[in-house]
Amino acid sequence: MAEAPVGDDVYGEDPSINRLEALAAEMVGKEAAVYVPSGTMGNQAAVMTHTQRGDEVLLDENSHIFFYEVGGLAVLSGVQTRTLRSVRGAMNPGDVSAAIRPENIHFPRTTLLCLENTHNRAGGRALPVEYIDEMADLAHSAGLKVHLDGARIFNAAEALGVSAGRVAQKADSVMFCLSKGLSAPVGSIVAGTAEFIEGARRSRKILGGGMRQAGILAQAGIVALEEMVARLGEDHRLARQLAEILSGFPGIEVTPPDTNIVSVSTEGIRVPAPQLAAMLAEQGVLANAMDPARIRLVTHKDVMEDDVRKALGVIEQVLTEVAS
Ligand SMILES: *Cc1c(COP(=O)(O)O)cnc(C)c1O
Repeated sequence: MAEAPVGDDVYGEDPSINRLEALAAEMVGKEAAVYVPSGTMGNQAAVMTHTQRGDEVLLDENSHIFFYEVGGLAVLSGVQTRTLRSVRGAMNPGDVSAAIRPENIHFPRTTLLCLENTHNRAGGRALPVEYIDEMADLAHSAGLKVHLDGARIFNAAEALGVSAGRVAQKADSVMFCLSKGLSAPVGSIVAGTAEFIEGARRSRKILGGGMRQAGILAQAGIVALEEMVARLGEDHRLARQLAEILSGFPGIEVTPPDTNIVSVSTEGIRVPAPQLAAMLAEQGVLANAMDPARIRLVTHKDVMEDDVRKALGVIEQVLTEVAS
């Protein structure tokens, strides 16, 4: 990062950013890409670029864009969200079809469908390519665009045994994070057609995401793509190992993980998930309370087999404590 060549990226003159964007576009099979400070900004810029104020956007009720982005679609793009039920991260095609509005002076225009893969709230589930394809075909046949929130698209690709480009093939735009499992300190990517990305650069600028000599950050993004993508399988292997042993512990229920997220239902124990997470944190094990009775454990490049063993010891001890 210290040696990254830099320039003014708002003028398109930062060689490190340009290199990152070209590499990123290629890796998700799109014409062009734009670097953004966060995944949230990437999703928001993509929606802003695809839509007009007053449009209706279809997305699942558990999607990150709807659940965790502070109502940004309403605030920033002035669109109306129409949420659909999802089961393990998957919406029902019939529900999507039924939600697409016909032309009528009373109705907003349905212009965008958002998908997510891997699906965060579904415990890092890698949704099959056939699902993404089917949803995209359905949307396109009704004239909608498709945005894929692929914050962890490389985890999805690894789990599905296909390229990230294949996962995103039918999406008009895709966002992914260089942070998280890819280990860069900051940064995300939005990719799509060259024309779309030109628009997304304007949206990024509106959102305050035009950065100057940001090549120092892009350099870490290049390392993420060149070195970290290839090792994600290791995180998945450790997550499976963690889940397998955890599933033998009393009071909890573990969903077998597709990727690096282990989702643990804590319905069967007496303390609420946030309190359980606090008790684990006291012993040096960090977990996210996703719901009142669900915690999330994540493996990543700084977690080794030995750490998993230690974490299991702590979890077992804390579960015994709350059971007595
Ligand atoms: C983390 C995440 C984002 C947002 O990324 P930030 O960089 O935290 O803003 C978007 N979508 C999904 C599915 C995520 O998991």
